[in-house]
Amino acid sequence: MPAMLLAFCVCLLLASPSLGVPLGEPHKRVRNKLLLVSFDGFRWDYDRDVDTPNLDIMAQDGVRATYVTPPFITITSPAHFTLLTGRYIENHGVIHNMWFNTTTQEKKQYYMTQFVDEWWDNGSLPIWITAQRQGLKAGSLHFPGTASLYQGEKVQVGEMEPIFYNHSNETAWHEKVDKVMGSWFSEQDLDFVSLYFGEPDSTGHKYGPDSPQRREMVKQVDRTVGYIRQAAQKHGLTDRLNIIITADHGMTTVLRNGLVKEIIISKIPGFSFKDIKFQLLDYGPIGMLLPKEGMLEKVYNALKGAHPNLHVYKKEDMPSYLHYSNHPRILPIVLFADPGFVINGLFPVQFNKGEHGFDNQAMDMKPFFRAVGPDFHRNLVVGPFETVHVYPLMCHLLGITPEVNDGSVDATRHLLASFKDSSPAERSEQGAVSRALIGLGAVAGFLALVFVVAVSHSTYKRRRGNRSCEGGVDTEEKDGISTQTSF
Ligand SMILES: [Zn+2]
Repeated sequence: MPAMLLAFCVCLLLASPSLGVPLGEPHKRVRNKLLLVSFDGFRWDYDRDVDTPNLDIMAQDGVRATYVTPPFITITSPAHFTLLTGRYIENHGVIHNMWFNTTTQEKKQYYMTQFVDEWWDNGSLPIWITAQRQGLKAGSLHFPGTASLYQGEKVQVGEMEPIFYNHSNETAWHEKVDKVMGSWFSEQDLDFVSLYFGEPDSTGHKYGPDSPQRREMVKQVDRTVGYIRQAAQKHGLTDRLNIIITADHGMTTVLRNGLVKEIIISKIPGFSFKDIKFQLLDYGPIGMLLPKEGMLEKVYNALKGAHPNLHVYKKEDMPSYLHYSNHPRILPIVLFADPGFVINGLFPVQFNKGEHGFDNQAMDMKPFFRAVGPDFHRNLVVGPFETVHVYPLMCHLLGITPEVNDGSVDATRHLLASFKDSSPAERSEQGAVSRALIGLGAVAGFLALVFVVAVSHSTYKRRRGNRSCEGGVDTEEKDGISTQTSF
């Protein structure tokens, strides 16, 4: 009997968590692959008026943010470069979709700007280059910034779309997915790929965000999300591929048709284009002006307060939350309009029904954010965060050291199923769990001790043949021994 009791107590103590589970042991670091997908202009709430079964399944299998906040100005190249670098636009320097030269008056539209290295390569490294320098293999398909050289280096496997490219063709979308999953991730064993789709931005511009055409395009996006996940499954990548799906900005309806007083700069009293050396106008709701020498105050005073929905700032006075001030490329006067308004130069030349570029605090400018994969929680909805934080999250997932950036992995760490490098708060949380487990172990140990003492006492009493003990108690103790020793 004493041997059985001893065995029981040893079993009990070994079963206690404080002894049986190593505490505080760091998680083994496993590097999974990472796919970053951008569906240009996919506003945070575009799934609310359309059936999106694939996005819904993805949310169940992973993480969904209520929305994310893009950088200002909320346009394509600048906002995508923030995703790739974790820097605000004033810090990464890709301040517009267009390259421009204020001396020669030359401007290059979005597509041609992709091939101007110095526009992109001005101090901030996109994640591809950082990953490659740290021994990983990176690729990029049609993502803004793909074509450029950065400090003499380029993304290892990269493709830009041809100049006349149909960004809406679903068959071409599937081919892109097949290329990334089959060739790049599987055959070439890339660690990171960024993948860009030009919709639902184009449809949102052309027909407006509340149009049936936009809703149809969201269905196409949803089918493609399903296709992406099926392709991952087909190539055996599901368990080792994290997928982040987000966008650069949202979209809002342009107010016209006599409903509002349009912003036409040339019609503002006291303003003259003769005072302007260079202008970037007629680009949705944002504009920049370089006045001729000595004309800054005159231009500024003419424009300031001239239209109730036009915000006019000297560059150095831009609201600090916009982070759009501190870069030499930003021109001395910055203009932006309230949601629904666009800034026209000489006369209205823009007829889009939907626009973006507005203040990043406007809800219509917020993109969506979804993530799924082995490193992410399942079925978790999280609150909003800024898209500057996506870069440090991606570096963390890839196990690479980030460049200097404006984000923090602490802003997204709660999305992760396991904390790989605990923050102080998380260490404290883990410590609390450890303490709880140790406490449970101590309680189990104490109960074992009580049990041993009780049993020993009972045995001792029986050996002494103590007739004064009440039978009921004795029976209970015997039953107890009987039950426990048969365990
Ligand atoms: Zn865009």
